[in-house]
Amino acid sequence: MNLNYDVIIIGSGPAGVGAALSLRRRGIHNIAILEREAHAGGVPRHCQHPTFGLLAFKRPMKGNQFAEKIVSNLGDTAIFTRSTVIDILPQGVLKVSTPDGIVEMRAKRILIATGVRETPRHPRLVSGLRPQGVLTAGALQQFVYLKGKKPCLNPVIVGSELVSFSALWTLKNAGVKAQAMIESGERILAFKAATLFAKAMGTPLYLNSKIIEIGGLERVEYVVIETAGKTQKITCDAVIFTGSFVGENTLIRKSHLDFDASTGKPVTDQFSRCSDPSYYAAGNMLHPADMGDQCYQEGILTGQYIAEDLLENHHQEVVRHTPRIPVKFAEPIRFSVPACIDYTSQKIELVDFNIKVNSAFTGTIQVVAGNTVLYKKKIRCLPTRRILLKGIDLTKIKPDATEICISVV
Ligand SMILES: Cc1cc2nc3c(=O)[nH]c(=O)nc-3n(C[C@H](O)[C@H](O)[C@H](O)COP(=O)(O)OP(=O)(O)OC[C@H]3O[C@@H](n4cnc5c(N)ncnc54)[C@H](O)[C@@H]3O)c2cc1C
Repeated sequence: MNLNYDVIIIGSGPAGVGAALSLRRRGIHNIAILEREAHAGGVPRHCQHPTFGLLAFKRPMKGNQFAEKIVSNLGDTAIFTRSTVIDILPQGVLKVSTPDGIVEMRAKRILIATGVRETPRHPRLVSGLRPQGVLTAGALQQFVYLKGKKPCLNPVIVGSELVSFSALWTLKNAGVKAQAMIESGERILAFKAATLFAKAMGTPLYLNSKIIEIGGLERVEYVVIETAGKTQKITCDAVIFTGSFVGENTLIRKSHLDFDASTGKPVTDQFSRCSDPSYYAAGNMLHPADMGDQCYQEGILTGQYIAEDLLENHHQEVVRHTPRIPVKFAEPIRFSVPACIDYTSQKIELVDFNIKVNSAFTGTIQVVAGNTVLYKKKIRCLPTRRILLKGIDLTKIKPDATEICISVV
């Protein structure tokens, strides 16, 4: 196993694969992709429903077909599966757990593209016993699509994001009807039309409702939900917790890289570069959770930035630390990508800021650097949705600006 590369990519989902493809197109072939699963392709590999491909290939594709297609474009790129990065260290060094033991790998540039995970039961503080049958939508997809198994017969689904409805779809494909969908907010988080799908499936939707107990000793037997102070018991054999995505950022939290304390995501600039400029980050680990196609396109762009950086530095390991100013925000804004701006670079003039919010509102979002308004637009914002503040002109930032502020005015 070669341990030295120009670029190592952690994660073989759409973001990582998109970046590898982009690097190859620019003549950088000494690349390795490290993937902890047994096969490359990331989350789309587990999704056999056609919510992929429209942006990237102009046609709807099932996730597994999408994953196969993008991975097949990588030619002879070295992909090490069953290889989990367990430490990110300065100077482009990674500790990797492989089938042959733990090794140290090194690269001039490293892209972190580790994706997202759903919030499971415990951080949601749901009380009750610990029976079998409590899972996430991701685990459900793996049972049904990858293993051909039916893990339950009458489950309830917690959540109402797009992924919650895709869980309903996965259950339908397995010949299973969900007993209920439970959402704590007053409206569903997916597009309203999705309620029609639940209706067609005969699955009632409980809004303003919270799951407060899981019952059953060996196997789930029921859940108790609370709606406007009243409780009721629903008989079921599984609870599927969906969405509430968090970036897969365990590696970041214990690394030397600067990160945002509340989300754990690394602080990246408009080139997707981390505080240690030999590291880059892209995909849903930065903005849980956008669509697969969007992450693929972002990966392609990030690969381009990494290639330019390497070519400018004549493929040397040296990295250039550049002065950066932070992007600041307050409630109801949850995060912004980028989280800082390298204001010495005029390489990209117009940048899209990708933000997410904690609560639903319609308001004017303003982006300001010093006294200069860089963006101002009225937008309908919903939690979990991708909100793009498009075409922010970084050349307008004056040299004395110390921060960029996003606010709702
Ligand atoms: C359950 C679920 C369902 C989804 N359904 C859809 C859908 O229907 N349509 C859609 O467009 N999007 C869907 N998404 C969003 C999905 O995250 C994106 O589609 C896309 O896969 C994100 O691409 P990515 O490359 O950022 O991450 P991922 O596709 O998640 O890829 C990250 C990869 O990194 C690997 N990895 C993580 N940590 C390490 C490590 N330490 N070492 C080595 N490898 C590591 C993971 O195994 C994974 O393969 C879903 C997400 C989830 C979680």
